[in-house]
Amino acid sequence: MFRSIRWRIAVPYVALILVTMLGLALYISGHFRKARLEDLEAQLLTDARLLADSARPLLVAGQEDEALDALARHWAGLVEARMTIIGVDGTVLGESHEDRTEMDNHLLRPEVQQALAAGQGSSIRFSRTVGYQMMYAALPVTSDGEVVGIVRVALPLREIEASVSQARQVVLTAALITALLAVLLALLIAERSARPIRRLTEVAERMADGDLGARLLPTSRDETRQLTLAFNYMANQLDEKMTNLAEEQSRLTAVLEYMADGVLITDAAGQVQLINPAAAQLLGTTREAALGRSFVQVVRDHRLVEVWEGCRARSEEHITAVELERLRLFLRVIVTPLQDPGRQDWLVILQDLTEIRRLDTMRRDFVSNISHELRTPLASLKALVDTLRDGALDDPLAAQRFLDRIETEVDALTQMVQELLELSRIESRQVPLRLVPTGVTEVVTPPVERLQPQAERAGLSLAVDLPPDLPRVLADAERGQQVVTNLVHNAIKFTQPGGQVTVRAYVGGHGSQSAATEVGRPEVVIEVADTGVGIPIDDLPRIFERFYKADRARSGGGTGLGLAIAKHIVQGHGGRIWADSVEGRGSTFYFSLVAVR
Ligand code: ADP
Repeated sequence: MFRSIRWRIAVPYVALILVTMLGLALYISGHFRKARLEDLEAQLLTDARLLADSARPLLVAGQEDEALDALARHWAGLVEARMTIIGVDGTVLGESHEDRTEMDNHLLRPEVQQALAAGQGSSIRFSRTVGYQMMYAALPVTSDGEVVGIVRVALPLREIEASVSQARQVVLTAALITALLAVLLALLIAERSARPIRRLTEVAERMADGDLGARLLPTSRDETRQLTLAFNYMANQLDEKMTNLAEEQSRLTAVLEYMADGVLITDAAGQVQLINPAAAQLLGTTREAALGRSFVQVVRDHRLVEVWEGCRARSEEHITAVELERLRLFLRVIVTPLQDPGRQDWLVILQDLTEIRRLDTMRRDFVSNISHELRTPLASLKALVDTLRDGALDDPLAAQRFLDRIETEVDALTQMVQELLELSRIESRQVPLRLVPTGVTEVVTPPVERLQPQAERAGLSLAVDLPPDLPRVLADAERGQQVVTNLVHNAIKFTQPGGQVTVRAYVGGHGSQSAATEVGRPEVVIEVADTGVGIPIDDLPRIFERFYKADRARSGGGTGLGLAIAKHIVQGHGGRIWADSVEGRGSTFYFSLVAVR
């Protein structure tokens, strides 16, 4: 209870008021009593003086005691007080209320002693004679300067005590009522003072629960108004900062979500605290599986762990390139310490350079291939020209032979340049494809017919197997024929005499990589199978690259560009191209075209 500000304000107030009122009541009643006693004393002394005056002649004359007794009683009746006349020796000579003969010597009574010593005396005492508190006032009776007796007037204090206690009660009641009112007032003031603080607490709690729009209306013009205004200002600032933070966080989340680089944050213990989708994809895991697990478990690659450990050991940024064989990835890894106050986190950025490296390798291969391809015909041209110059010109037959060979070389070079140009035009989409619904026969038959004589010359049988109900495909017939020509031409080139080349077509779902159902689009697969030399398994993934020749010795005059061109044409049609082969047993090339229903 006393923890609440209301009570902390009210209780001291109430205590102060109660103590003050009680003190005041006691003081007033004490003062009142004292004044009453003084009044009474004065009154008793006045009465004593009257009695002394009346008693003097009797005392001087040595009157009989009866007369003094009667005098005492007479005066007692007049002033309504107890009257006593005492001789100089202390003997009671007259008494209004008691039997004087039974009363003891009064010389040693304090008021009597005082009267004899100081001329008047008074005392408050319990009277054993009457049995209650009395006030006594005594005066010496003098005659010619000589004390002849002492008169004493007494009144019980009962009345005074009663009136004092009544007065005390009144004061106490008044004090209590005042105190009660003061308590109520104190509680009211305390409640009013505590109310704004309570409301502030409520609003602060609402804000803590997430309601950042909660505000207070200032209701007074005092300090609480300033507190309320300051609180509202603080709430506005907080709201603004939180909004900015939330905006920033959502931007950051979006950046992390869509950025191509993988981002991971680990804590000092090495547990993954954050992982973005790119990092999860690169490492072949998921956000849910990675969060809270150790970095080592998530990356599962000792070189990545080494880079990370190295950065942790030196506490400085570390950049390195790492090849992850397990995932066939080439990564640039950047590990940076994050200087968050009070904790040590590590930021790991994974940049996938696999594609860039592949393109770079391809570019380098391309340059070296093209130089290589050009070197042989150019060297042979140079040799032929030198031979002619060195005298062969004089031999017309030899000259003719050399010229023929020069022509062949130049034709080969021209063809290569043409194919390169064509490839680059197809790659850069400068060759517009007119994709229209076309019969598969239109794509397959003309090239097969054209190559039939060549197959026969090579001692091969070339067959076509087309089901009659094939759907039409979306194709540029001329370009489609170019692909078939390339594939059949290769099949003839790489198959020994007596072999078999077969061209088939069917609706998707056949072949090693067919994924017609995967893309959910019907397609027609055209297949060129031979029983030739086949392609080594290691070369198979690369045969569609420019200039790539699996077996340079056997590829003869080929440029190595045919399959690259075929691949680009097929891709331009929205289809795929792939190959299967068993070395020594033959190869099968497939390409797909989108079917039209
Ligand atoms: P090329 O002009 O040399 O034939 P291609 O791009 O058409 O160039 O073929 C690339 C390489 O793929 C060839 O050099 C050969 O090694 C291999 N290849 C293509 N088709 C076949 C096939 N039917 N049988 C065996 N190897 C093939």
